[in-house]
Amino acid sequence: MTTEAGCFSQDHAFPFIDTLFDYSSFLANAKLKGGIGHFQHVCHERVAIVGAGLSGMVAARELLKAGVENVTLFEANPIRNGGRLLSQRFDANMPEYIAEMGAMRFPPSEVGLFHYLNEFNIDTASVFPEPGIVDTEIHFQGEAHKWLAGMAPPSLFSRVDRGWRCFLKEGVTVEGKQLQAPVSITQALKEGRLADAKESWQQYLDIFGDNCFYSALVKIFTSANPPGGELWQKPDDFALFGSLGIGSGGFQPVYRAAFIEIMQLVVNGLEDDQRLVPAGIETLTDNMSSEKLHERVSTPVLVPRTF
Ligand SMILES: Cc1cc2nc3c(=O)[nH]c(=O)nc-3n(C[C@H](O)[C@H](O)[C@H](O)COP(=O)(O)OP(=O)(O)OC[C@H]3O[C@@H](n4cnc5c(N)ncnc54)[C@H](O)[C@@H]3O)c2cc1C
Repeated sequence: MTTEAGCFSQDHAFPFIDTLFDYSSFLANAKLKGGIGHFQHVCHERVAIVGAGLSGMVAARELLKAGVENVTLFEANPIRNGGRLLSQRFDANMPEYIAEMGAMRFPPSEVGLFHYLNEFNIDTASVFPEPGIVDTEIHFQGEAHKWLAGMAPPSLFSRVDRGWRCFLKEGVTVEGKQLQAPVSITQALKEGRLADAKESWQQYLDIFGDNCFYSALVKIFTSANPPGGELWQKPDDFALFGSLGIGSGGFQPVYRAAFIEIMQLVVNGLEDDQRLVPAGIETLTDNMSSEKLHERVSTPVLVPRTF
């Protein structure tokens, strides 16, 4: 659901499986109270924050709001704040053309980020042009395969696409244990059934705790009852799935990442409904830098980096 300003509401937020903490209620409360916390009296302690990326800027802002008088934000970059939020414009006359050099796609389940985007009325109504959301070409072994917007992926990828979708919806039986469907774990989180979500997640940790993404896929899709009903063949189907990915593009480069980390992305909704910030995500830190409150932060200071 979007608000009039084109920003997403916090309805999309839910506790993440790794923290089980309801940041949406916490931040909704912060909105009502004008900050995430308050000192009883003005705090005269001097506070130093290293780094004027989004984390440092939010920390400075919240500390000032809470009643800390003296905040210094140290930033190594003499030219700009924002860190890894960097929206590069090509031509001042065409500000709508932006290359996001760092963060670029934002799922509404990133509740903290959306809290601040909404505070500054930054438009997040546009859908990110993910593969299959817009016309896409998947290049596989030197050949281009067209994937038209809103359609199923090219037929070459059908088996692995079907298998992965079935796994998300139905779960899998591995080592004699029936694992809950990832979507049902997300649903439990959304409905506040945190104990259920935790119990189901624990099974994933027990079975896949030592697996990388690739070896877990092998366990799942070469098992006796693979999701989707078809065994995946090695190496071809795994190469196809590596190119197709799970929403945001090919996942082959992260085949060596921990399976649990990938599943955290999935269960926490971090691959769902990605948003684009048409004005550039850097507008968030730009807005923070130029608000009245920020005038009370000591001028960013250049600190030599030590390596
Ligand atoms: C290519 C890329 C793509 C990404 N894509 C996404 C995405 O699509 N969606 C998403 O949500 N996230 C994405 N991210 C991650 C996101 O950009 C970061 O999580 C976020 O910007 C981190 O903010 P931060 O303030 O914690 O750190 P940073 O932005 O890294 O800020 C740290 C700041 O500290 C400064 N600093 C460092 N050392 C010192 C020092 N010794 N003294 C003074 N200053 C110092 C740096 O100059 C910098 O300004 C992406 C990141 C990258 C690089």
